[in-house]
Amino acid sequence: MAVQDILQISQRVRSLAVSATLAMSQKSAELKAAGVDVINLSVGEPDFFTPDHIKAAAKTAIDENYSFYTPVPGYLSLRKAIADKLSRENGLDFEPSQIVVGNGAKQALCNVILSCINPGDEVVIPVPAWVSYVEMVKLAEGIPVTVSAGIDTDFKITPTQLRQALTRHTRAVLFCSPSNPTGSVYSREELQALVAVLADYPDVLVIADEIYEHINFTGSFTSLASFGAIADRCAIINGVSKAYAMTGWRIGYCACPPDLAKAVTKLQGQYTSGASSIAQKAAEAAYTGPQDCVREMCAAFRRRRDLVVSLARQIPGLRVNEPQGAFYLFPEVSAYLGTSDGETTIHTSGDLALYLLDKAHVATVDGAAFSAPGYIRLSYATSDDNIREAMRRIADALAQLH
Ligand code: PMP
Ligand code: GLU
Repeated sequence: MAVQDILQISQRVRSLAVSATLAMSQKSAELKAAGVDVINLSVGEPDFFTPDHIKAAAKTAIDENYSFYTPVPGYLSLRKAIADKLSRENGLDFEPSQIVVGNGAKQALCNVILSCINPGDEVVIPVPAWVSYVEMVKLAEGIPVTVSAGIDTDFKITPTQLRQALTRHTRAVLFCSPSNPTGSVYSREELQALVAVLADYPDVLVIADEIYEHINFTGSFTSLASFGAIADRCAIINGVSKAYAMTGWRIGYCACPPDLAKAVTKLQGQYTSGASSIAQKAAEAAYTGPQDCVREMCAAFRRRRDLVVSLARQIPGLRVNEPQGAFYLFPEVSAYLGTSDGETTIHTSGDLALYLLDKAHVATVDGAAFSAPGYIRLSYATSDDNIREAMRRIADALAQLH
């Protein structure tokens, strides 16, 4: 067998798209390293440092020799802290045995998808949606069924759209609110109306990605698992990355029905084992310690939301909604398709994102990566100065397009 045959990459991996959020961020880091003054609005992560009491817990864990393999689903003390959080903040009743901690919400979600999707099963995904949903379903050989909602409906799907997407092959529905990439937040009433549809489909698992729960400017958050009609078939995905500014610590979890939690644990036991001991102790401190840090960061994101929206609304041709959560703006940019600065012609929103990187030195992400061509995503989890400068540069670069 020739070496190139041995090294041939599997069809499974070849058919995956590269994560556009991570790729754009990498590209912007490379430009920065080469001396270009790039403002990175591509990757979505809080720019704050992890709060001190959480860092202190990690240091203590090192000194106390938390250096051994951890239980596959996570330390019991952490799972108890998460169960308490779900009860205290969301009014939900989960046993620690229903919670499996993984390497970030990303792994927690992929664990759930790989544990419940058979080849050919359909997974309904409202879009625009985070880049990894469709790819994770493909990894499980499932069929992503996207349901589109544009800026005119504040990027929210209707109960009728949901009903039309559900078939006898539907195995799961994957919701995200507050949403990445749009910042939209479904109200309790809007969720109730979707749940009324799901009530007619008792075999469908409801996966609720609630990672942006605490970056929410509406003043109220409703977990999908709080609706009695679907509570016993909900898998909640959450973690510490966004709420506690802990993206690099890699701790997330699923809270799900007992059999699914067992399956996820079996999978993780063969795949990555329990998550990092030190990071788990830090996450435990995050859930059990003071919560003012969460409120303070949310207030900062809200101020920045107001700033970025007001600046974006002054730029001709950008259509923006007012995001109610997360830290993304998702402008519609189709007014610029077909324009040119005399050198570069913009055919797609992907061309526009590259043009902004080349000409304005601002990194954004093409909406197509979120199954929504015609839009771009800006993460405003950065300083007010960066936001002002980035929007000034974007306005100047867009003004060159005719
Ligand atoms: N879900 C959504 C919607 C996200 O934006 C992210 C952040 N990339 C994740 C899950 C994964 O987060 P984590 O850092 O915990 O893996
Ligand atoms: N949530 C972030 C984003 O959407 C992190 C990068 C990723 O994992 O996709 O940019």
